Amino acid sequence: MKYEVVVIGGGQAGLAAGYYLRRAGLDFVILDDQTNAGGSWQDYWPSLHLFSPAEYSRLPGWPMPSWHSGFPPASHVVDYLQVYEKKYDLPVRRPVAVQSVHRVDGGYRIDTDGESYGAAAVVNATGTWSRPFWPSYPGMREFGGTQLHAADYRTPDQFVGKRVGIVGGGNSAAQILAEISTVAETLWFTNREPRFLPDDVDGRVLFDVASDRARALASGDADTGGVAGLGDIVMVPPVREARERGVLHARPMFTALTSDGVTDGHTTETLDAIVWCTGFRPALHHLRPLHLHADGSGIMLDGNHVRDEPNLLFLGYGDWTGPASATLIGVGRTARAAVDTLARRGKVDQP
Ligand code: FAD
Repeated sequence: MKYEVVVIGGGQAGLAAGYYLRRAGLDFVILDDQTNAGGSWQDYWPSLHLFSPAEYSRLPGWPMPSWHSGFPPASHVVDYLQVYEKKYDLPVRRPVAVQSVHRVDGGYRIDTDGESYGAAAVVNATGTWSRPFWPSYPGMREFGGTQLHAADYRTPDQFVGKRVGIVGGGNSAAQILAEISTVAETLWFTNREPRFLPDDVDGRVLFDVASDRARALASGDADTGGVAGLGDIVMVPPVREARERGVLHARPMFTALTSDGVTDGHTTETLDAIVWCTGFRPALHHLRPLHLHADGSGIMLDGNHVRDEPNLLFLGYGDWTGPASATLIGVGRTARAAVDTLARRGKVDQP
């Protein structure tokens, strides 16, 4: 099957691309390896709530319906994305797992666990959730307790009455610590002192900061990133409540695990479990056959496309692919820019 554009990934980024591809009149399909719509929002821990109100969490076109009180839960986003893709009649095929992408005359061949697809252009919108990052520490294999990554965390039930180490200085760590600390003793380990945003700063302010940054970049001004990075901890109600309980204190990272805990070489703490909230990496293994140019920080991009590869676009992986592009409200801006780039070159020829 041949298309002008194949979008890989049917989460929020893939749908935002679909919205603009449809408006541009391009012939496209979205391939997603999940059984249902909703991307990674389907797999987040059930207590996770957005850090912005619904009206600040919308994809292009149709706004997210408001939530009755406070910030919406992840399940509300799943419902929204399900309706969104039906509303715009986006051509999503699932479950279809893309295994590899190869250059062919005039474009790309996309091999999946079923059929192969041909496309003049490929938009990668595979997110990061399927690639949890585990750092490497001496003794990890010897530790006798439970170790899990934030990607596998669901509820605090398994930690009742235990002593649990939480590793990581971002929002996932703060939110998971806030929840587990209601049933267990928690010790929080971070590489650097966590940066808490002021209580009145939520996703709205962060998006405004990202917008300023996008404008500055577009007008050629110096990068103003880092004023209030999206990695800083948003004081959502459960995290504020954990602070009131006095459990939101980070200690320096340990240097090794032991059979029953962790050590920094001087002191040892016994632990029953460790939750690694250590982030994610872009899910790009299917692009390996292309041998893309990379430097120390990843594949090199010019705007949204891979350097020297104008018809291979990346969307939604974070500031790397556009300010706030990993957020619901931010991804629309980069999706529009990416599709404009394709559409400006005229009708994209099929291979
Ligand atoms: P995903 O949602 O991961 O979608 C990618 C899709 O591609 C998935 O369905 C995946 O299975 C599929 N896929 C992957 N590889 C392949 C392949 N080879 N073939 C086919 N399909 C494939 N954002 C906000 O806007 N507001 C918030 O309040 C907010 N809070 C957050 C809190 C936490 C703790 C976390 C972790 C994230 C939060 N985010 C928030 C960010 C946001 O949830 C993610 O950045 C977003 O879901 C990424 O969307 P995506 O479409 O890029 O990726």
